[in-house]
Amino acid sequence: MMKSSIRPELFAADNVVIPDDMQYSQLKNAAIMMVDDEPIMLEIIQALLEDAGYGNFIPVEKSTQAIDMIMQTSPDLLLLDLDMPEINGYEILSTLRSNADYGHLPVIMITASTEPGDKLKALELGATDFLSKPVDASELVLRVRNTLSAKAYQDQLAYYDSLTGLPNLKLFIERLGWGIELSKRERVPLMLLDIGLDKFRQINETLGMYTGDEILVTIAERLNSLIRSSDFIGRTDETVKTGELARVGGHEFSIILSGVNSIEAAYIVSKRILDAVMQPVLINEHEVFITASIGIAVCPTDGEDVESLIKYASSAKDFARKQGSNNYQFFSSEMNAQSKDRLKMESNLRKALDNNEFELHYQPKIDSATDKIIGMECLLRWNQPELGSVPPEVFIPAAEELGLIVPIGEWVLKEACQTTSEWVKSGYENLIVSVNVSPKQFNEVSLRKSIESAIQCSGLSPQNLILEITESMLMGDVDHHIAQLQHITDLGVAFSLDDFGTGYSSLSYLKKFPIEELKIDRSFLINVPEKNEDNYIVKAIIALADGLGMKIIAEGVENAEQLEFLRQNNCNIIQGFYYSKPLNKTNFTKYLASHC
Ligand code: C2E
Ligand code: MG
Ligand code: MG
Repeated sequence: MMKSSIRPELFAADNVVIPDDMQYSQLKNAAIMMVDDEPIMLEIIQALLEDAGYGNFIPVEKSTQAIDMIMQTSPDLLLLDLDMPEINGYEILSTLRSNADYGHLPVIMITASTEPGDKLKALELGATDFLSKPVDASELVLRVRNTLSAKAYQDQLAYYDSLTGLPNLKLFIERLGWGIELSKRERVPLMLLDIGLDKFRQINETLGMYTGDEILVTIAERLNSLIRSSDFIGRTDETVKTGELARVGGHEFSIILSGVNSIEAAYIVSKRILDAVMQPVLINEHEVFITASIGIAVCPTDGEDVESLIKYASSAKDFARKQGSNNYQFFSSEMNAQSKDRLKMESNLRKALDNNEFELHYQPKIDSATDKIIGMECLLRWNQPELGSVPPEVFIPAAEELGLIVPIGEWVLKEACQTTSEWVKSGYENLIVSVNVSPKQFNEVSLRKSIESAIQCSGLSPQNLILEITESMLMGDVDHHIAQLQHITDLGVAFSLDDFGTGYSSLSYLKKFPIEELKIDRSFLINVPEKNEDNYIVKAIIALADGLGMKIIAEGVENAEQLEFLRQNNCNIIQGFYYSKPLNKTNFTKYLASHC
């Protein structure tokens, strides 16, 4: 398998043609193997090439190891001494040329021989060029540069599609092979998407091949910019994925999705691809409409080798086409079923607000020193008539993806403020309601307006409202986030950092954010007080909050032992099943009466 270092970097980046001087600077990354039995020669050649800016060398002193080393390191260029003991340069060259993978590796022979017969023999065996010993510096640099440029050009022709500039089938197969190896090693699934443009033959026949080509280029550009966009997968809390696009046939594209940890990711990507393809293509002021069918195969679930995955993705694509095109299908029926469920859930979710299917539950936050309620977290519930109660972990990510979380979040804010205001008015003046804010809501400029409006309509004092955000929302531009938070705290509303410890907060920045409360994540409390490590973490978080002058609350407290540990370590605000599960409005009203 080829792993040479110049080809992909040289031409693949964004499929743009790289200017000449840049090409040469990229050539300097080329892996140059030197095989010579005289160490001094290896040193001289390396020093001369280093002076010319090259930096990636593989010196080999023992000619018997040359072939193995080539297999292991896949160099871009071989500088090969002719006269060596045991195995000479001719033998290495002829072994190489008979090998399918390395038959085209450029080889510059270096020889002290002045015999024309020697050069002729090496040429017949497939040497790319010659250099005479003693080596002349400028001649060496010139030959190396020219040989590497020629190789890069050949690679471009061999590995990239001339119409779209995308990797072609050959490079795609190589990359899929590497992707599968990596997926197996790191135990992270890989997904292969086979994308076929529907009824493309008809387009070629009616509009002509040139127009067909124009359309293909447009679609290729759209897919390329899609997989390069920062929200390719779309979820802010997803791990970073990579997607590699190739044109693998006349009107067929493929995407390798690496590092994918959920079927949801493939599902989201497929929908985006279908949307991107569906946008009309403008040809001579006429709009041409195209659709695609996508087949998805997953490594390791469906197959663990290149051939099977390609075959299965292709048969899933055929199935998608039979289902009426403009559609995607997984190869595995189980995944198709999951994806159908998800589609159904999504279409119901779009109607949920209008149908009044949402309800808020409230979980008390208790001061364990007095056993009195100081506030409550409102938690959204969706009771779907057909599906029953759908867990927030399922519908909230879907609402985020569908862009529904903003109107849903506004409803939550309004409802929470209204209900809390009723409780405050009935005598529980100090009750503070916590409302979860999703990353998408947080990034909307309209958030402050929604909060203002919820407060005004309900008559709730801003001091009775606290917003829960998570660490991941504060990553990136610190100054921007400080301003964002400040803009809202100016209203008199406070912030709490939810699930603290599960993100990657930079502790040094934490003190800069106007945050009133840290919420220790439930995961740290599960094994408290049995597990010493967790005890230390919890104590450290408490000390951190204390040092920064923030309130601290523990969530997910389920038993008396946890409670005792927290009390002893000065964490007195407790939320968890030990005190109460989240309760609907009626039951929470009763709970209030008995715990105030
Ligand atoms: P969260 O904000 O961290 O909420 C705490 C979750 O822990 C709740 O799950 C709660 O029911 C659960 N919990 C509380 N005490 C215990 C305990 O002692 N043991 C166990 N095992 N669990 C406990 P829930 O209601 O399923 O909500 C899950 C997540 O959904 C929430 O995590 C929050 O991130 C999100 N969520 C809920 N409501 C909303 C909302 O209105 N807006 C947004 N954006 N997200 C929400
Ligand atoms: Mg929360
Ligand atoms: Mg939480």
